[in-house]
Amino acid sequence: MKGYKCRFCGLKNDHMQMKCYSKPTGEYNKNGTEKMARKYVHLKCDEEYKNNEAFKEKELKELDELFTYLKKLHRIDTLDGRMMEKIQDLRNGTVVFNKKKIKRYKEGVPFRDILYTYEINETYINETLSNMVFAAKWNEFSYVFAIVINNINDSIGAASNKETVMNRREAIIDNNLVDQTSYSMDETAKYNNNKKDVLDISEFL
Ligand SMILES: [Zn+2]
Repeated sequence: MKGYKCRFCGLKNDHMQMKCYSKPTGEYNKNGTEKMARKYVHLKCDEEYKNNEAFKEKELKELDELFTYLKKLHRIDTLDGRMMEKIQDLRNGTVVFNKKKIKRYKEGVPFRDILYTYEINETYINETLSNMVFAAKWNEFSYVFAIVINNINDSIGAASNKETVMNRREAIIDNNLVDQTSYSMDETAKYNNNKKDVLDISEFL
């Protein structure tokens, strides 16, 4: 019996109990049919798998927005590895203990709250940047990052509250008065408790 590895739990199982996700690869077989990329997920794992995929997609979108903002702020084409590491450590809640990093996954500050902190401190950051000379972009980045860390507690949850307000406004415009307050931080908390989050951060970069 041929087994497929479940993309969610990693265990192999008979394909009859699994759901197949397939998408075209853009490459073709010799007979002209398109090659398909297939992923298998246990039927019992499917709901959690889909939630996890949606979460990863949302994370990627928020990370992309933050990177776009940072590249503009620092007038750089790309963030180097050290810069990305700082961002990811803050997002994951990674701590240093006895000079060793204790890795966590998505237990720190959400990307949108990091971005929000940059945004609300932008005037101060720009003033600081225009008054100082840095040896390299890395020094500039670290200096500003420290400002953001100092102000981050004021911003945690603020971005999602802002989003909730915007969602509510849109809902009202649509004459669809759905209560959206339940958005907030629930989904983040849910994933913090998910012990299956063993993905490497490189999956997002
Ligand atoms: Zn599974």
